[in-house]
Amino acid sequence: MRNLEELKQEAFIAIRGAKSVAQLRDAEIKYIGRSGKLTEVLRGLKDMSADERKEKGKEANALRQTLELEIANRKSQLQDAEHQHKFAAEKIDVTQPGRKYHTGSLHPLTLVMREIQDIFGKMGFSVVRGPEVELEWYNFDSLNLPTHHPARDMQDTLWLAEEPLPIKKRGKNISSRLLMRTQVTSIQVRFMETHNPPFQIIMPGNVFRREASDASHEFEFCQMDGFAVGPDASLANLKWVMETVMKKLFGSGVKTRLRPSYFPFTEPSVELDMACLMCGGRGCSVCKQTGWIEVLPGGMVNPKVFEAAGYDPLQSQGYAFDIGVDRIAMMKYGIPDIRLFRSQDLRFLEQF
Ligand SMILES: [Zn+2]
Repeated sequence: MRNLEELKQEAFIAIRGAKSVAQLRDAEIKYIGRSGKLTEVLRGLKDMSADERKEKGKEANALRQTLELEIANRKSQLQDAEHQHKFAAEKIDVTQPGRKYHTGSLHPLTLVMREIQDIFGKMGFSVVRGPEVELEWYNFDSLNLPTHHPARDMQDTLWLAEEPLPIKKRGKNISSRLLMRTQVTSIQVRFMETHNPPFQIIMPGNVFRREASDASHEFEFCQMDGFAVGPDASLANLKWVMETVMKKLFGSGVKTRLRPSYFPFTEPSVELDMACLMCGGRGCSVCKQTGWIEVLPGGMVNPKVFEAAGYDPLQSQGYAFDIGVDRIAMMKYGIPDIRLFRSQDLRFLEQF
């Protein structure tokens, strides 16, 4: 008798003291589970006399019902509390101001590349790309820059350690070393080998030079070469294209000048300069104190380049030019140092 009463008090404390549904479940198992304390009492009934069994059995079953009821009550209390807690935690205050979502932005060079491509697209130029790891043949030899040509010094080159590749060009077997292309002009002969004129294309991409960097020089930069071949591709046509692009990029008030220049792959060669927008032509570190920025070198395609591509140099006419995308971007956004483009500095990048 005393045993059942004690058991009841003990079970009540455990059930009412349960702080969670899980704890309550433990108490349930402990007292009325398959091997719980009360279940054991009920099992022990079989060793008693019939009278004792009847009386004790009645009490034990009553206690079992009491405990079951008690557990059910506590369970519903705990579940209510848990729901309340969950609702409170998940409550959303729709009146709170939203959190600003941080999005990335396009790199200034990407923005300028896209703008230039768009301008040329409207003039009927198509975009053509080529490999950054290039054969010496396409980067130099075919562009009238044979091995000991002094103009090669203008472009300090990153050579790759791989063995030269055997190739066959103009009926000759030659071996050509691999390099990181120093100019996207390397795409010209590649393109002519598989296409017939007339065509007008632009060739965007990264180029690499073994060069110390300063405010206006980088060892990696972006170029966008233009290349047009056909009976109408004249020097006058080239001048118009160059000036039109500058006007579209910088407005019709942009000041430019065209002067003779030298490049091995064009003859004659010209260079279009624009008045430095950083200093208004007074001279600064970006324009090397000259007031002018070289932005568009170009000229008529040298017949030797046509010859290297297997075109008839007497029947072919074309012009080529090169846009220094980094310099255009510097002028356009007032960026004083070319090294900022590849600095990965978020304070710089987030401004675009
Ligand atoms: Zn300047």
